[in-house]
Amino acid sequence: MDHLRRLGNSISIPIPADDNGFTGRECPQPECEGYFKIELGTGLKGEGLPCHCPYCGHTAGQDQFWTKEQIEYAKSVAMRRITDAFHKDLKKLEFDHKPKGAFGIGISMKVKPGRPTPIHYYREKQLETEVVCVNCTLRYSVYGVFAFCPDCGQHN
Ligand SMILES: [Zn+2]
Ligand SMILES: [Zn+2]
Repeated sequence: MDHLRRLGNSISIPIPADDNGFTGRECPQPECEGYFKIELGTGLKGEGLPCHCPYCGHTAGQDQFWTKEQIEYAKSVAMRRITDAFHKDLKKLEFDHKPKGAFGIGISMKVKPGRPTPIHYYREKQLETEVVCVNCTLRYSVYGVFAFCPDCGQHN
C-alpha cells in the first residue's frame, strides 16, 4: 500500500489565483460571509498575520477565510489523489492463477479503472472595486466602495 502511505496524514492543495492575480476570500462570520479578494504577496509581510473582513471587520486567521467553493475544490482534489493512490495499490495486488491440470478453476483479479472522482472546479467572482491600501500596500478587491483593509484593518 505504498501509494496510499506516501500521501501521509495531510494533503496540502494549492488554491490558484484568478486571472488578475487575486485569491478569493470569504468572511467566516455566518451573518456576514462577505466575499472579497486579495493579491497574495502584497500588503503586510510576516508569519501568522490575521485577516480582517473588509465589510464587518471580523478578524481571524488567514486559514479561516477560504471560500466554500475553494474548500469543495480542495476536498475533491484530495479525494482524487486518495482514490488514485488506492487504485494504484490495488493494481499491484492483481493476480491470475491459471488452472492446473485438466480440471481446475482459474482465478484472477483484475482491477479496472473506475470513474475518476470529479474535481469541483470553480471561478472567482467579479467584484466592483479594486483598492490598493495606502497604509500597507495590499491589493484587494471588494463589493461597493468602503472597506477595511484585509491586512492592516485600516478603513479606506
Ligand atoms: Zn465579515
Ligand atoms: Zn492595509
